[in-house]
Amino acid sequence: MPTFEPSYIKLYESGELQRRIGILDEMLSSCNICPLDCNVNRKEGEIARCYSRYLPIVSSYCPHFGEEPPLIGTNGAGNIFFGNCNLRCVYCQNYQISQNYKAELKNEVSFERLAEIMLELQGKGCHNIGLVSPTHFVPQIVRALGIAVEKGLRLPIIYNTNAYDSVDVLRLLDGIVDIYLPDLKYAEEADGYSYSKVKEYPKFARMALKEMHRQVGSELVIDDDGLLKRGLLIRHLVLPNDLAGSRETLKWIAEELGNDTALSVMSQYYPTNKAESITLLSRHIRESEYDKVLNLLDEFGFENGWMQNFESKDYYKPDFTDRVEPFKR
Ligand code: SF4
Repeated sequence: MPTFEPSYIKLYESGELQRRIGILDEMLSSCNICPLDCNVNRKEGEIARCYSRYLPIVSSYCPHFGEEPPLIGTNGAGNIFFGNCNLRCVYCQNYQISQNYKAELKNEVSFERLAEIMLELQGKGCHNIGLVSPTHFVPQIVRALGIAVEKGLRLPIIYNTNAYDSVDVLRLLDGIVDIYLPDLKYAEEADGYSYSKVKEYPKFARMALKEMHRQVGSELVIDDDGLLKRGLLIRHLVLPNDLAGSRETLKWIAEELGNDTALSVMSQYYPTNKAESITLLSRHIRESEYDKVLNLLDEFGFENGWMQNFESKDYYKPDFTDRVEPFKR
């Protein structure tokens, strides 16, 4: 297999990366970076729903080993955790950094510093740059990427998102992002509003996933070391009482993107943040609920992906060719 070169190198060399930096930067003057379309001038320090101004907020960064195996390899994913968020999930497991709005502003960093962080993670041997909750900082990330590429960044970029993304912005990420890692959350609009406080979640998230799929397709490019280099891996966090609308969500993926799309079905839900006081979300999921979702994978003929062991939460890859007991673990 030839040596992998991230797709953004070509854009950098042709000058296209610089052009996109300009377009994205301009969008912050009347912010429509995500589907919330707040139209505030973030370049002048105006704050809206995501509680974010012009500079990116980096809450932490590190080699991370809690992702799917092809993302962590031996040295870990080079995760950068961005502060604040455009969603307000009542069960957010990162709520200390995603919903601690004012406090997080103190973690604003310059574009140059964000570029340095990317290079530091590369220096530590991380296999990729994992952008965690990047949606509200896409312009800032792309600007920092331009600086980092000039200084030698060569790692694939992972876009780890809640999927409430703008298609126009995603189009500007075509050829910049190598690996899309969206979490597809709900099938019902009312659940998106009740539990993440945004309108029309399924509509916007599905449009976003179609665009991601258009860019990178269903095939995962995995190198000889088992590391994912390019592709779309859709996460689906199973919620108690089927609040994630798993059947509808998986059916939509199979029908619209194809059942060769890679999935990561997660069982790690636990009630945190405000969820303990919400009856339907106030418990862990049951093993029977998780198994029911795994059976749906079989029903819709999915062929690729990773599941979580219900007890240990370790990821494993089922034998999708064994249609009798494909999810044996
Ligand atoms: S990125 Fe933030 S300010 Fe911009 S539209 Fe979304 S929530 Fe509003």
